[in-house]
Amino acid sequence: MQGKRLVLPIALIINMLLGAAGNAQDRYGAAPQNIKESMDRLVRAYTDKIRGHDNDFLILRNGVKFQISDGRTDKTFEKLLEEPDIDDMFYSRYPLGTEPGQPAINVDPGRVRFEPLFVAMYGDCNKNEVAKNLRTIPWLPKHAGGSIAITAVNGVASALEAVSRELDELPGNLIKYVKPLAGTYNCRKIAGTNLKSMHAYGAAVDINIRYTNYWQWAKGEQEPVWRNQIPIKIVRIFEKHGFIWGGYWYHYDTMHFEYRPELIAQ
Ligand SMILES: [Zn+2]
Repeated sequence: MQGKRLVLPIALIINMLLGAAGNAQDRYGAAPQNIKESMDRLVRAYTDKIRGHDNDFLILRNGVKFQISDGRTDKTFEKLLEEPDIDDMFYSRYPLGTEPGQPAINVDPGRVRFEPLFVAMYGDCNKNEVAKNLRTIPWLPKHAGGSIAITAVNGVASALEAVSRELDELPGNLIKYVKPLAGTYNCRKIAGTNLKSMHAYGAAVDINIRYTNYWQWAKGEQEPVWRNQIPIKIVRIFEKHGFIWGGYWYHYDTMHFEYRPELIAQ
């Protein structure tokens, strides 16, 4: 009996370990069950640029059509990031309103982006198409935060101005997290990848780098161990105006906010 009692916990532990390893090899790419609802939200989030969708295509106002599904359901997590289709952007639900904490393996809501759609909306920075849409806005004027350039496409600059106005009213001890900003527009790839960062579209903001935690900087860890110093009050202000937070990602980037209202809208 003694032995039997020991067997069960050990089997459980082995199962848990196998489960964790198995997750890393999960296959991605199947459309989420609520895909029609997600597509409706995508259209509503970017009405300036997207006309609508049918079962198979997303239709832009300029006539361009993107296939919603590439039919693949066998992507590794790396392929999900590198070769997503439109439905893959919704593979993981953004946990709006929840207490932040260690996310499950590879749960990175918002980190999967169908690049041709974002290039079609914001332009290709390598062809000088993004910079011409940048608007300069004041940042925390009551705290002399200077000014920043952000895209005016999709109303992003106006949304960020609204964020700035609300942050400006926060108690003084919270201002250090959002001033100075670490950056907005930057025509670059995501570190270690060939993928365009949301900064390359002028639609992302990094807050004060001094208080950030970033999974790529945590050396020597086999898997990212979630850390965060950013007060949730700041996160909620950004979310209210359409920006998602990189602190909700398994591959966390806690200074990072990007304009992705399709993931926030209910
Ligand atoms: Zn960033």
